[in-house]
Amino acid sequence: QTEISTTFIIFGGSGDLAHRKLYPALFNLYKRGFIKEHFAVIGTARRPWSHEYFQNIVTEAIEESTNDTTGVTEFASHFYYQSHDVTDTEHYKALNQLSDQLEEKYQTHGNRIFYMAMSPRFFGTIATHIHDEHILGRGFNRLIIEKPFGNNLESATVLNKQINASFDEEDVYRIDHYLGKEMIQDILPLRFSNPIMKAIWNADNIASIQITLAEQLGVEARGGYYETAGALRDMVQNHIFQIATVLAMPEPKNLTAHEIHESKQAVLNSLVEPDAAELAHDFVRGQYAGDEDTLAYVAENQVSPDSSTETFIAGKIKFGVGPLAGVPIYIRTGKRMAVKQSVVNIIFKNTTNLYDDASQNVLTLEIDPTNTISLVLNGKRVAHAGLKEQRLIYEYEEHIKDDVPDAYERLIGDALVADCTNFTNWHELKSSWQYIDRIEQFWAQAGKKGLHQYPPFCMGPKEANQIFESATDKWI
Ligand code: NAD
Repeated sequence: QTEISTTFIIFGGSGDLAHRKLYPALFNLYKRGFIKEHFAVIGTARRPWSHEYFQNIVTEAIEESTNDTTGVTEFASHFYYQSHDVTDTEHYKALNQLSDQLEEKYQTHGNRIFYMAMSPRFFGTIATHIHDEHILGRGFNRLIIEKPFGNNLESATVLNKQINASFDEEDVYRIDHYLGKEMIQDILPLRFSNPIMKAIWNADNIASIQITLAEQLGVEARGGYYETAGALRDMVQNHIFQIATVLAMPEPKNLTAHEIHESKQAVLNSLVEPDAAELAHDFVRGQYAGDEDTLAYVAENQVSPDSSTETFIAGKIKFGVGPLAGVPIYIRTGKRMAVKQSVVNIIFKNTTNLYDDASQNVLTLEIDPTNTISLVLNGKRVAHAGLKEQRLIYEYEEHIKDDVPDAYERLIGDALVADCTNFTNWHELKSSWQYIDRIEQFWAQAGKKGLHQYPPFCMGPKEANQIFESATDKWI
């Protein structure tokens, strides 16, 4: 691996994401040679930390994430801290000076990677200051930005303009960490390197798809943020739309980032807009209730007692073009559900004439907690008449499981080598916000009507079972 020389400037250097994900990811990239000698990391946040204190924090973060900390002292010595209020112009000037000094010291060729890892309400302010205070480097300048990118199409458009004042679209790396997950990255090879999959991956053979992203935790300490988001914005607009797109996109002309994005855009442009009746019937929202041990959503910290924010959504989406044009894609996601699991089920049409008791073939991609693909087939019951369901399982060998990189390691590595394949581009974002905005507007008009309570640790309100087109379909 050739070393990439750069200075990272992390906004939100004392935050939870930086501690749990970014520093361990950078350390792994260091061990793999993506960054080596010619790099520096400036962490910024409001607290008045010294460089040494920050280096200790980074070392702690590495120690918490791995047993193999060889080289961590040398690694952490490249980290510097700048106490920084994102609204204070003077602080950007100081940040620029420190960046210049470190560029000189580490010979980073004026390359800068900015990472926005703090409350999204500051993204626009930071972008504007980066532009106005001229803190771009002389080499390449890239921006990695966390979710959420805006709160609706309008605010996303404003943010995008603020960002584009300094960064070209191809230098903006919008993180959707699901796109960094192994199983999501396995979807294209599965679909397009296997002739048998390619042959059956179409509306003639696939009856429907189910995407479930279930969490067991409640909102924890993030009630304030969640009140401004809800499950639709927090999970569907980004992760679920990206997964659905990768499942439904037409075969790209080749595997370049450009062609993959073209193909994704083609299906996203064709999202079928639900009418008012469909909005009411096909999208079900819920909010978790409490029990003796757990709080109801409305009793959580920083949550309004009469909040109508949804913590669960189930819905049906359809694309108008591509191999799955017209195939219903059922989606659901929520907090305080029965399991923590991210899974895609692809349900094939039952076309057998001879066997009444044949089950539908189902191809399952489990994204979390394991990385497995499995296929339900029908076989003969041993020594008896009739059929028995059998599951073929594709999983990684034990010794490979530990090699699966964390999504953040992979994505920051991609940004270092300027590969934007697994990031969300502006056109994709625009299409998904347009769709989400319609649902949000419909719900805003309905108020709490249609917001169903569900008990903690179940799979959402029972109304989520009523969105299927076929009376025999149910959630898997
Ligand atoms: P956090 O609240 O833990 O950290 C926020 C950081 O911003 C802190 O370093 C804080 O000091 C700094 N900050 C706040 N106000 C500031 C100001 N006025 N000036 C300068 N610094 C200021 O947040 P987090 O959980 O690390 O999340 C950061 C981003 O990452 C968010 O966009 C979030 O949506 C995204 N994200 C987080 C996670 C996660 O697991 N934590 C997962 C996915 C996405």
